[in-house]
Amino acid sequence: MANTPSSPVRVRFCPSPTGNPHVGLVRTALFNWAYARHTGGTMVFRIEDTDAARDSEESYHQLLDSLRWLGLDWDEGPEVGGPHAPYRQSERMDLYKDVAEKLLAAGHAYHCYCTTEELDARRDAARAAGKPSGYDGHCRELTDEQVAAYVAEGRPAIVRFRMPDEAITFTDLVRGEITVQPENVPDYGIVRANGAPLYTLVNPVDDALMEITHVLRGEDLLSSTPRQIALYRALIDLGVAHSIPAFGHLPYVMGEGNKKLSKRDPQASLNIYRERGFLPEGLLNYLSLLGWSFSADQDIFTIPELIEKFDVADVNANPARFDLKKAESINADHIRLLDPKAFAEACEPWLTAPHANWAPEDFDRAAWEAIAPHAQTRVTVLSDITANVDFLFLKEPVEDEASWTKAMKGDPAALLTTARANLEAANWSDPESLKNAVLTAGEAHGLKLGKAQAPVRVAVTGRTVGLPLFESLEILGKDKTLTRIDAALAKLAA
Ligand code: GLU
Ligand code: ZN
Repeated sequence: MANTPSSPVRVRFCPSPTGNPHVGLVRTALFNWAYARHTGGTMVFRIEDTDAARDSEESYHQLLDSLRWLGLDWDEGPEVGGPHAPYRQSERMDLYKDVAEKLLAAGHAYHCYCTTEELDARRDAARAAGKPSGYDGHCRELTDEQVAAYVAEGRPAIVRFRMPDEAITFTDLVRGEITVQPENVPDYGIVRANGAPLYTLVNPVDDALMEITHVLRGEDLLSSTPRQIALYRALIDLGVAHSIPAFGHLPYVMGEGNKKLSKRDPQASLNIYRERGFLPEGLLNYLSLLGWSFSADQDIFTIPELIEKFDVADVNANPARFDLKKAESINADHIRLLDPKAFAEACEPWLTAPHANWAPEDFDRAAWEAIAPHAQTRVTVLSDITANVDFLFLKEPVEDEASWTKAMKGDPAALLTTARANLEAANWSDPESLKNAVLTAGEAHGLKLGKAQAPVRVAVTGRTVGLPLFESLEILGKDKTLTRIDAALAKLAA
């Protein structure tokens, strides 16, 4: 346990409810959560829904549902409440208005009457002259007369925060010391002309009011940190904030072709992993490796082990690469780690409806529980289960022409006829006896077991590869097995 902070840790996850939850967002939630749990701190979940045009109720519910599915809980936030409620910014508008007024009254902010056209024209001119092209401070020191004239003109005004004329230095928990010169951080808008507060205001104000101690978020927000620190200082001056949180910026996640994984990238959608049957613990294990590592020689671990070990001080500043194959292989390992009963239960939704291609009433729980232990080592994601066990529930085995052609070579009818006779006489409560039935049939036709069992497997399951054959036959049962071999013989004769 390195670097346990002296005051209780309060972290926050504060997404905007737009679109579907994506991998980058979940990684941010996870790192905050793991840090809170590691330090015995508090995880605050806040919804940044001040942009009515983009935010949606559907997305809000998806966020809550996704976090719950992943097992990432929160100590304060929607549906849980807490001392700083409400936790949806849309319900906190009066607070922001109040802070904006205080900032204006104390001179930390001012009204800016510049029109978009004026701003654009001056920006272009500054660029042409090779000067910094941010806001030029035009309205910083307007006289009462100038203000009166603008107001008389009916000009709308935004509220702009007055940046101090000095460099801002902070120590990023991931990247170390960062210094930004004042010319690179111009005064910025905090309230729109229509009175709507902006992210630039509401996010640090809420972090202050909610007493956040550590801001862990994506690297894309690094450039807003000097502005937020300056605003924080003003809030401290007003008595609204008590101290400035520590900031840690999590590395970018790169997707295909070493491009930043974008929200719109299909690989980035959390729902895809959920629909394919990733286990929450498998996905979280993988996502925690995007910018962090458990140890040099171990990358499979449980959530309690993650919590035990996770420290933001160990997060790596280099971009992380999203590797689907690795995510799948980690998930497969977590599936193997499940207790067999938990595995059987976890697969059931895929075996009943609506993913399966048989009717829900054809699902046979006893057969499933018998076969499940044989299937557990063969699936990467839970949805793989249907193709492994469908032969148990389908009325007819799947028709797979490629498998049929591959297995039905030589004289498959002769082999199947002998195998059927031997199987009919075998002991059906002993897979060894079933194996022997096929083995001896093979011998009678000069075939090794591998070659002899292929036509039997395809006749019964439809596929050339699958679960251990003789256990499968035993679970399917004698009648169905023989009927399917008869059907294959009929097809061969046709
Ligand atoms: N609502 C902001 C976002 O979704 C939060 C940024 C932050 O963590 O400060 O990007
Ligand atoms: Zn202005």
